[in-house]
Amino acid sequence: MKNGDDLKKLHVSTQLSMLGRNPNEQSGFVNSPVYRGSTVVYNNCEDLRQRKAPFAYGTSGTPTIANLENAWTTLCHAAGTVISSSGLGALALALFATTKSGDHILVTDSVYRPLRHFCNTLLKKYGVTTTYYDPLAGAQIESLIEENTRVILLESPGSQSFEVQDIGAIVAVAKRHHISTIMDNTWATPIFFQAHALGIDLSVEAATKYLGGHSDLLMGMVSANASHWPALRATYDAMAMLPGAEDCFLALRGLRTMHLRVKEAEARGLEMAHWLKAQPEVSRVLHPAFPECPGHENWKKYFTGSTGLFSIVLDARFRQENVDNMLNHMDIFSMGFSWGGFESLIIPFDCTEYRTATAWQPGGMTLRLQIGLEDIDDLKNDLKAGLQRLY
Ligand SMILES: *Cc1c(COP(=O)(O)O)cnc(C)c1O
Repeated sequence: MKNGDDLKKLHVSTQLSMLGRNPNEQSGFVNSPVYRGSTVVYNNCEDLRQRKAPFAYGTSGTPTIANLENAWTTLCHAAGTVISSSGLGALALALFATTKSGDHILVTDSVYRPLRHFCNTLLKKYGVTTTYYDPLAGAQIESLIEENTRVILLESPGSQSFEVQDIGAIVAVAKRHHISTIMDNTWATPIFFQAHALGIDLSVEAATKYLGGHSDLLMGMVSANASHWPALRATYDAMAMLPGAEDCFLALRGLRTMHLRVKEAEARGLEMAHWLKAQPEVSRVLHPAFPECPGHENWKKYFTGSTGLFSIVLDARFRQENVDNMLNHMDIFSMGFSWGGFESLIIPFDCTEYRTATAWQPGGMTLRLQIGLEDIDDLKNDLKAGLQRLY
């Protein structure tokens, strides 16, 4: 039971334990060694001319990178995976693999904000235009399709506002029009949503979050189905922007406990979200597992779980200065971007600053929480004291 096809039949926690390592080829050691390298040497002229080696040169990859690529490919039931040095880089790779000058793409209005910047600047410069669409559009996205529309990009749920998209309906429209679909699946991870099984062509994971899991790593994965794999790999090979060897080692290590950590994030996220919902200072909880979350029915339909990132809307009476007073004095929660690590984070956010296709009207100040691995009662006490500082 060693190759990916055999492992695909096993439960995900077993896969995560076994993928991307082969003790028989590692002098018996459980974990694979870290290969660092640029030059690959050949035995003779003939081999050199034909590049007869598993890796022709460092930019073709290393066994360390290949172990992680192959592990992710099996986990995602994909045809292949490439790895970038950040999640944003992975999204850029997916878009470069699917667009050319003169094309038009549709991007959800709830998308990770730096990707908007990429579309509005770099992609635009290369002649690709972007239209943003309502994340809850579902099948109605069809009305936005133009003759040159080549890609629909989804992010479900949005990682600040948490609308859950009707992925099945959007994929069906895309297939009818021969349009490629790219999904940012960072929130759910392949553990709670299998993007390719639902027909998504390219699935992106910011490995910086739950795969890394310790806030010490930047990395992004793009997995492809069979029809999109050749173009993705060719794009990646043309740019040679590879992940670092040590980062791949950390990601392979993260893989081993990812199931445990994500399951724990789910339980803690739900407990904290329910607790917050009961506090008088909180008017709404934007968590996909809550009926009041936009697109909740899509979460029920497509996802098998939730993770530890969600948002809350505060009562309308509170203003920015109240929120500042709350957040400036937290003891355990820190303020900072990113998530998926062991530590709890809280940030204020305001989608009205950048949305263009939809009006964001939450009805109060909004906060995003990442629930870490600290004691849950300590976290509640920290938030309880913080909510008191709102007055
Ligand atoms: C963090 C994040 C990214 C980008 O990942 P980086 O590694 O920080 O570049 C992309 N999409 C989502 C949903 C994210 O949360």
